[in-house]
Amino acid sequence: MAVERTLSIIKPDAVAKNVIGQILSRFEQAGLRVVAAKMVQLSQADAEGFYAEHKERPFFKDLVSFMTSGPVVVQVLEGEGAVLKNRELMGATNPKEADAGTIRADFAESIDANAVHGSDSATSAAREIGYFFAETELCPRTR
Ligand code: ADP
Ligand code: MG
Repeated sequence: MAVERTLSIIKPDAVAKNVIGQILSRFEQAGLRVVAAKMVQLSQADAEGFYAEHKERPFFKDLVSFMTSGPVVVQVLEGEGAVLKNRELMGATNPKEADAGTIRADFAESIDANAVHGSDSATSAAREIGYFFAETELCPRTR
């Protein structure tokens, strides 16, 4: 499988719970490497632009409000099959439906406050990484 990159966000609920390190550990234990990371307070415009694909959905306003409710940790993860691997580690969108041992099963409260974001395809990953990081901010990990 090819080495890929994916965008991960530790959402405000997980930052507030002080589990940033525990979530990053899950990625590392699964063989993904952090090649860029920053903690940011998203503005309303930042969150609306990031989630533009959902702007007609009934939950859009709540989603933007939640994502701007506190700081988030945005990272680029690199590794073999990184997009799918991260989605597997995250678990289902609704933590009540997430498999045992996934990040959302272990750290999320609800479908709104569900601990993490992860790109859903290589195409989304490219857009989402570019939304938060310049190419020069990525640090490829060769060892
Ligand atoms: P995922 O984050 O698993 O890729 P989506 O891209 O479908 O899920 O949705 C983006 C985010 O919007 C979800 O993580 C969740 O926080 C929120 N969301 C999705 N569906 C709903 C819903 N039915 N009600 C409330 N919030 C939702
Ligand atoms: Mg999604």
